[in-house]
Amino acid sequence: MLRGKTAVVTGGSRGIGESIVLKLASMGADVAIIYGSNTALGEDVARRCREKYGVKAVSYRCDVADFETVRQTCGKIKEDFGGVYLLVNNAGITKDGLVATMSEKDFDKVLDTNLKGAFNMIRHLSPLMIRGREGSIINVTSVSGIMGNAGQANYSASKAGLIGLTKSVARDLAPRGIRCNAVAPGFISTDMTANQTENNLLKLIPLGKMGEREDVAQAVAYLAPAKYVTGEVLRVDGGIAM
Ligand code: NAP
Repeated sequence: MLRGKTAVVTGGSRGIGESIVLKLASMGADVAIIYGSNTALGEDVARRCREKYGVKAVSYRCDVADFETVRQTCGKIKEDFGGVYLLVNNAGITKDGLVATMSEKDFDKVLDTNLKGAFNMIRHLSPLMIRGREGSIINVTSVSGIMGNAGQANYSASKAGLIGLTKSVARDLAPRGIRCNAVAPGFISTDMTANQTENNLLKLIPLGKMGEREDVAQAVAYLAPAKYVTGEVLRVDGGIAM
């Protein structure tokens, strides 16, 4: 369904993003993989896509929080792939702490990466989608952005902001044939949640367990080509935020 189309995935070198990249490649998409710092991981994911699925796959080191770096990287992606059909804004970080002691630096860093990073990518790739007269944008938010979470004022604010961004971009670009949706994972087993498996959290999840990276990739695979769905926030959370 995505054969011959290009997907750009931020934070595609590991965790949920890696699973999204592999899922999209298995659906025939060519993939541009953006990562923050670990070049070996980014290149390894690209190599596996090429070898296993025979698609074009290139990885790019790019700090999504930096407007100018994103502009340059999107220019390279345009040179390498031509058009872009799908953008998945998945790159994200946490810097948890109580709000009463949280540093300004930790607040800004999380907002700049998680929220402004998505804006930067949309800002520089949507003109390409508009020219192609089709496109699909998926922002990876979080149940923390829906419910809030103690110790995550910065992260929850960034993820709630992503939901507002998603709905505004959906309205903005609908007349151009471009859709924008969000996926809101609950607790998924990755590096980000490595030390959260043993606490009382599991008791709060109606389905009683953490999710797998593949569960989120499945949701992205559904939303990517869903031609009558826009402005939606699809929870993948075992029921925790219902
Ligand atoms: P992860 O395992 O920590 O992976 C994060 C990815 O983002 C890595 O590829 C990393 O690349 C990249 N990245 C970080 N900062 C970046 C930057 N400034 N520029 C470009 N890339 C950057 O995280 P994850 O658990 O898979 O989470 C993926 C997304 O899902 C995040 O947005 C997260 O908030 C969201 N989410 C996760 C959960 C969960 O339970 N895991 C729940 C809800 C939402 P490098 O390693 O090269 O820096």
